[in-house]
Amino acid sequence: MRTGRHLTGFVAVAILLCTGSFGLAGCQTNPYTGRSQLLMTSVDQEMQMGAQAYDQIKTDPKMKPSQDPREIEPVKRVAARIIEAAKRSKYADMAKQFQWEVTVIKDDKMANAFALPGGKMAVYTGIFPVAKTEAGLAAVMGHEVVHALARHGAERMSQGQLTNTALEVAGAAIGAGSDDSLLGQATMAALGVGAQVGVLLPFSRKHESEADYVGILMAADAGYDPRESIALWERMAQLSSGGQAEFLSTHPSHGTRIDQLKAWMPEAMAIYQKRSHVPASALPEVGK
Ligand SMILES: [Zn+2]
Repeated sequence: MRTGRHLTGFVAVAILLCTGSFGLAGCQTNPYTGRSQLLMTSVDQEMQMGAQAYDQIKTDPKMKPSQDPREIEPVKRVAARIIEAAKRSKYADMAKQFQWEVTVIKDDKMANAFALPGGKMAVYTGIFPVAKTEAGLAAVMGHEVVHALARHGAERMSQGQLTNTALEVAGAAIGAGSDDSLLGQATMAALGVGAQVGVLLPFSRKHESEADYVGILMAADAGYDPRESIALWERMAQLSSGGQAEFLSTHPSHGTRIDQLKAWMPEAMAIYQKRSHVPASALPEVGK
């Protein structure tokens, strides 16, 4: 428990210093929104944890990778364009450092996708009927990639939103490389794979708004019509009874989210107009 009190104290001090804008190593300003962020981990540590979480998910026998090229290829196409856009974005330095990888998981019931620190991504086939087209999928992946690049997972570990997370993170950082360095549920949830480990930890409203905003700019820069994001979130809201995916558990109330997207749309459209447009090809039907 001594470690626990020590870390909590550290967080409290760091928050005070962060808001006092002393330019601490633990503080960062989001390059798009100017929001001040408290971060107790380094990008290297986060990338390591992201890779570990990804390995853990991939070895779970319930997570079956799709073998169908009709499902895999559109996801790879969209991912490649979003990654290129990320490398041109204000997150370019980090995007170039990430070891990007995308897996399509065959689960027609799970309307979800995630991107971990370090650039490891997964798309569940259950998102296809919601995304409908590659442009819809670009809105989903743009949103998820921004959670990773904006270090939202690291931020919520640092904020200690789950009591044990900071302790687990410290443990994981120390234990990394040893045999018993498996990440615990709280860390996995903080990183953004909560639905997979049965711990629901939605991103905060600020994180969601940031991911929506920068996500549509990134999708537009990748050549996808950013207006698709509005139709996407409309369809997502209709699914809201499911409740297990990151998308379905989040909160900017639906009306607020749509109003915000509309307000940001002129900026996204200005970017989109300068790019060669990618057709909104339909995604394959699943679960039929
Ligand atoms: Zn989100």
